[in-house]
Amino acid sequence: MLISNKQIAIVGGGPGGLTLAQLLQLKGANVKVYERDLNKDARVQGSPLDMHEESGMVALRKANLVAEFEKNVRVGADKKIIVNEHAEIIFSDHSNNPAEDLANAPIRPEIDRGMLRKVFLQSLQPETVVGTVILFR
Ligand SMILES: Cc1cc2nc3c(=O)[nH]c(=O)nc-3n(C[C@H](O)[C@H](O)[C@H](O)COP(=O)(O)OP(=O)(O)OC[C@H]3O[C@@H](n4cnc5c(N)ncnc54)[C@H](O)[C@@H]3O)c2cc1C
Repeated sequence: MLISNKQIAIVGGGPGGLTLAQLLQLKGANVKVYERDLNKDARVQGSPLDMHEESGMVALRKANLVAEFEKNVRVGADKKIIVNEHAEIIFSDHSNNPAEDLANAPIRPEIDRGMLRKVFLQSLQPETVVGTVILFR
């Protein structure tokens, strides 16, 4: 196989690099991810990501991470309320029941980027992600 007996280097431990690393490890590849952040808490990761059915969710399914993802989803974060100039609601897709669940609601469930990174780091083999001088933990 193309990936056997090779060491694969991925530059960048964002969602793209970590997904690729996970998919390659599931195929038995020898992978290292080189990330410039000194550790997973080095900076705020930015706005939440919404997962589209045809892209992000496909990748999570292939990476066997849907269950872990669902545990950490921000339920309801994809909901919208639109009000007019009098603050009257003209559109809302909030349900009356806040105890919604993934089966009923979000078509594009949202997750914090830091949490998504954590989900990947927990599933990757230890010491997969390395920095320039210290191991990424
Ligand atoms: C405001 C905003 C909102 C978004 N919302 C969504 C959304 O809701 N849903 C969605 O699917 N997408 C969304 N996106 C797009 C999404 O953020 C990107 O598609 C995704 O982050 C790309 O992942 P990546 O791993 O390729 O790159 P990045 O997320 O940019 O990660 C790159 C990583 O590489 C590291 N790095 C960079 N240079 C080096 C180097 N030289 N050496 C070592 N490490 C390096 C960085 O520290 C970083 O960790 C949004 C983007 C923005 C800007």
